[in-house]
Amino acid sequence: MAQNSFTHHCRQEADTVALAQKLALSLDHLFRADPSVHLNISLEGDLGAGKTTFARHLIQGLGYEGRVKSPTYTLCEPYPLIIHGKTLAMNHFDLYRMRDPLEWQEAGFAEHFDEPGFCLVEWPEKAEGTLPTFDVEIHLIAGTDENERNITFQANSNQGMIIFEKMCI
Ligand code: ADP
Ligand code: MG
Repeated sequence: MAQNSFTHHCRQEADTVALAQKLALSLDHLFRADPSVHLNISLEGDLGAGKTTFARHLIQGLGYEGRVKSPTYTLCEPYPLIIHGKTLAMNHFDLYRMRDPLEWQEAGFAEHFDEPGFCLVEWPEKAEGTLPTFDVEIHLIAGTDENERNITFQANSNQGMIIFEKMCI
């Protein structure tokens, strides 16, 4: 796939789950090939669009077996990503409750944007452009039916394009 964006229509929650699992598989390939990689992925969309649901299945799709709760109050929840016996980091952010665009830096989270693994960020717009650039942007938009969603993926880097190619959509 040579395009840097595509939209997937999800008729029901299971379709969103399958899409998150495909992304997990693609990220797994990438980290196995190079465990020093760092990626930034954004999740955008209204409240209830399915950002946390997508994040949960992505994180669990990468082998985390515990509960993935919304980081609404903590701003960031870290999860281990085990690749070839080494621990990389999956950091799941929800910036909705930030009172200041730089609160994520004041809370000491900047270092997470360099470490091997990836950052997954809900509500990046609350940081008003102060975050590093995103390799992949994911937008979730509700459809007309209650369980329907249109999910758009956009790659902004070569790494993002490689991820899309491996997703086999
Ligand atoms: P957000 O993090 O965007 O505020 P959540 O993931 O917390 O949203 O909530 C999404 C809600 O919508 C969940 O209750 C989920 O079960 C429901 N839902 C229904 N259909 C879908 C779908 N196709 N994709 C994602 N979530 C869905
Ligand atoms: Mg959420």
